[in-house]
Amino acid sequence: MKDRSAAAEAGELRALIEHYSRLYYRDNRNEVSDEEYDALVRRLRELESQHPSLRTPDSPTSRVGSTPVESFGAVRHDPPMLSLDNVFSEGEFRAFEARLTKELGLQSPPSYSVEPKFDGLAVSIRYAAGVLVQAATRGDGSVGEDITPNARTINDIPLHCDGPGADGLSVRGEVLFTKAGFAALNARREAAGEKSFANPRNAASGSLRQLDSRITASRPLSFVAYACAVPPAGIATQTALLGFLEGLGFPVSAENRSCRGVEEVLAVRESLERRRADLPWEIDGMVVKLDDFELASRMGSLSHAPRWAVAWKFNPAEVATRVVSLEFGVGRTGRITPVANLEPVSVGGVTVSRATLHNEDEMNRKDVRPGDLVVVRRAGDVIPEIVRSLGNPGGRREPPVPFPDLCPVCSGPVTRPEGEAAHRCMNPSCPAMLKEGIIHWASRETLDIAGIGEMLADRLVESGLVSSLSDIYRLDATALSGMERMGARSAAKLVESIVGSMNADLSRVLCGLGIPGVGRVVASALATAFGSMDELSSASQEELMEVEGVGPVLASSLRAFFTNPVTAGGIGRLREAGLTMVAAGSPARHRGPLSGLIVVFTGALSMSREEARSLAEAAGAKVTDTISSRTGLVVAGPGAGSKLEKAVSLGIETVDEAGFLERIGRAGSDGAALPGV
Ligand code: NAD
Repeated sequence: MKDRSAAAEAGELRALIEHYSRLYYRDNRNEVSDEEYDALVRRLRELESQHPSLRTPDSPTSRVGSTPVESFGAVRHDPPMLSLDNVFSEGEFRAFEARLTKELGLQSPPSYSVEPKFDGLAVSIRYAAGVLVQAATRGDGSVGEDITPNARTINDIPLHCDGPGADGLSVRGEVLFTKAGFAALNARREAAGEKSFANPRNAASGSLRQLDSRITASRPLSFVAYACAVPPAGIATQTALLGFLEGLGFPVSAENRSCRGVEEVLAVRESLERRRADLPWEIDGMVVKLDDFELASRMGSLSHAPRWAVAWKFNPAEVATRVVSLEFGVGRTGRITPVANLEPVSVGGVTVSRATLHNEDEMNRKDVRPGDLVVVRRAGDVIPEIVRSLGNPGGRREPPVPFPDLCPVCSGPVTRPEGEAAHRCMNPSCPAMLKEGIIHWASRETLDIAGIGEMLADRLVESGLVSSLSDIYRLDATALSGMERMGARSAAKLVESIVGSMNADLSRVLCGLGIPGVGRVVASALATAFGSMDELSSASQEELMEVEGVGPVLASSLRAFFTNPVTAGGIGRLREAGLTMVAAGSPARHRGPLSGLIVVFTGALSMSREEARSLAEAAGAKVTDTISSRTGLVVAGPGAGSKLEKAVSLGIETVDEAGFLERIGRAGSDGAALPGV
């Protein structure tokens, strides 16, 4: 990036960060999440380190908090109450440790005090002659707000503090709500018709910074101590200091740990993150401090943060980066998803270079354009997503990218089915969705081709043997048996199954094509109404709408499907491959040995009911479940009961499974020959 636009971006980022931090620190309000705020600060820090000339003394990267509100008295902090620099990954923590060991000339990794990072408000409480005399917020780090009467109402904060080292002591720690206290407060507010607080941190800040201390007193605030402005003489480590504070009666976290080196810190981090939801208070990470005060003072501090401690925030993190380009991916079901290619960035320790925008509505709502600065989030294993666009600070924005009206992979038609947020490619031969299409085509409910599952579908597409559904009907046993994990016998069985599917009922074919909005019921209604694929594909919108379950939206999506050259071509190829695509009972139906017969299966069969149905249908029969005077043949296996009795009483012809196979010319068959398609 050119320096000039980096300068403009840094300027706009500063303005944004200042706006958010004023709201946060002074008004206890968030317009963006903490993670998003952190992402902006990181981005600014990055720009400032790439272009040191952009650093300004008043940059939010070198300041703490915000100026105190004037209605409270001012309290000067000595030494200042600083913020903490953040690390977000193991790599960043290792870099911190490397810096410590190098600058301090250590031979082995240092010891740390590892503490939960409480999400509340930092305060400093001063005692003189054993009595609490002053309490103040952190404010801008150097000057805080006097909240002494309010602090006195918090039960956790001792009003008296005696003992060696206690006189003149300034104890620093966090005022916060426990999760239970926060829930109770919000429940009370809701019951009183008041607005509930968005999060415990805002609630703590709002409750403490009250001009009327009776309001503070009515809120169940807690306190945890973690530092002293100046540690008493003779206390040389943070661990000893925490013990000292506890001895004086201050609440100290039971989660504090002493660790040596990265590995031990990592173990504490993992444990803390795992138990985060069960802890009594909200934490957003942990604080890792050099344990030894002498080493810490050698590391010193910057204007805004010590160099001897870091806040290691938990995942998920949000990070700002640039959009390189927008493109549209086609998923296995034909779903078209807008995807942003990003300048690679580490989010929660994982490098992210692509993020989803889900669908057209999301893309428009977030108005993400190429070149934009965006906030990216990763939550758990979920695909990274763009939280929002910050436009193009420092430059002119590119025009928005329109959502495609043709499939970006195959140029097939794209529709957005009613009630859905996603657009879909309607071309069943679209390579991007071919695998899924094959699996669906072969499933039991559709063409019922036993033997084609996810793995084989992958191999068929990847080997190039199948590049459209009709290619399934050109497979032969030789080509198939050459494939990995496919013996001659399985190949022959598969071919038999494929051949068996060629006379499948039109309703199954319609389901198998995966036309949006066409499930079993609608497919069956369409098949009954039109009888053949030829009739159906030339039906007008009005004719289609006469079918039960077909409204104007579905009718026009069906028209789009049948008139699009790509989809129409696919259907033509299926016809050429030998598929009959007619409905059972239709005059156009393939004439076979059971042609015109209504067949009922009852009792146990050695094959599945779906297989038996396919075989009967392939032989020209219509299969139903109930016996009536129109039933022509009952196939009865062992255990057949009332249906068989009824068939006999109605004088309907009954056969067993062997008799059935004989009728359809399959007796003793162990594989079908390939059709010449
Ligand atoms: P910080 O919260 O990152 O770190 C410093 C603070 O950590 C201390 O002041 C103290 O309050 C706290 N802390 C908790 N446990 C501690 C422990 N065991 N030992 C020492 N300190 C401990 O820094 P910050 O300057 O207070 O605030 C910056 C953070 O505030 C940002 O990271 C952001 O998440 C949030 N923020 C959000 C917005 C927003 O609009 N959402 C705006 C401004 C700031």
